[in-house]
Amino acid sequence: MQQAQYQLIIVGGGPAGLTAGLYAARGRLKVLLVEKGATGGQVLVTDWVDNYPGFIDGLSGFDLVDKMTAHADRFGLEKKYATIASLDLAGEIKSVTLEDGEVLTASTIILCTGARPRKLDIPGEYEFTGRGVSYCATCDGPFYRNQEIAVVGGGNTAIQDALHLTKFASKVTVIHRRGELRATKILQEKAFCNQKIDFIWNTKVLEVRGDKTGVDSLLLRHHRGDESVIKVTGLFVLIGIAPNNELLRANPLQTDEGGFVVTDEEMATSVPGVFAAGDIRSKRSRQIINAAGEGAVAELSAEHYLGNKAPDTPLNCSEKD
Ligand code: NAP
Repeated sequence: MQQAQYQLIIVGGGPAGLTAGLYAARGRLKVLLVEKGATGGQVLVTDWVDNYPGFIDGLSGFDLVDKMTAHADRFGLEKKYATIASLDLAGEIKSVTLEDGEVLTASTIILCTGARPRKLDIPGEYEFTGRGVSYCATCDGPFYRNQEIAVVGGGNTAIQDALHLTKFASKVTVIHRRGELRATKILQEKAFCNQKIDFIWNTKVLEVRGDKTGVDSLLLRHHRGDESVIKVTGLFVLIGIAPNNELLRANPLQTDEGGFVVTDEEMATSVPGVFAAGDIRSKRSRQIINAAGEGAVAELSAEHYLGNKAPDTPLNCSEKD
């Protein structure tokens, strides 16, 4: 029977993928991690991480990714930076076809494709993307020095990023569709105490307005039905995430109604030999720490599926690990 090139291919190099890669490299599997951009996923655009255990003073998302990548590299994780055109997960040997036509095969796959920011889908949003509408406070915050801007959303991302944006903007108005925030209490407290942050409750953004120089205002509608306009030069849309599942659609994988991949607690999907970890999974809490934890569990499950058949590798008695 035909042999797969790899025992394991990890698709995606965020915290879940990098942790799975670290475990697989330490487990001496023949493993490849395929990532289309830089490693790190959404963490790369996270301004500050204050809740990753062990980093008492917090650290930037960039630094955390850097450390995770270096950690996997230390154990020799093989990585390939390429865009995947298609995945065939059904058979015993899974194939990963790259955009340049190269086909990679593996006995097991761990899907760590993550998620991306959701859109409001309102008039003006796409027209002004990059000219006043942004989905990344870390990337675009410095463009709004001494300006009045708005954030839409009430979750951890919206509130953490609103706080971050006060470093640059003169005023940040958080517009939330309900009367209370979803964000964790400590972030709420910080935001309520911040003199630069204002809240508009029970209100939706209906339209982003502006001219050729960029955004100048937002049309809002309160739940009561009355409409108003606020003047801002920027809108940060921070309303949650959508799964990066385009590659999975041609495969018979069970997903939830939002398109996130359903797994059991060992990270096994509905397709034998295919595991999923991180934000692509159907679950309630999406934290860096559980993405990393799930990456570890998925890799151990993949090893179990493979029957612990790591290839014979020559002993390297000089290694200190
Ligand atoms: P989230 O927790 O799903 O919150 C999305 C927010 O956007 C909610 O307040 C929601 O309102 C609002 N929203 C959704 N669709 C909307 C729409 N069409 N129009 C207006 N508002 C809309 O998303 P997130 O804040 O991006 O966080 C995603 C995950 O990452 C969460 O699990 C979060 O805990 C995690 N995260 C953790 C940290 C941290 O630990 N430091 C930081 C960032 C993110 P409703 O409240 O009314 O539903």
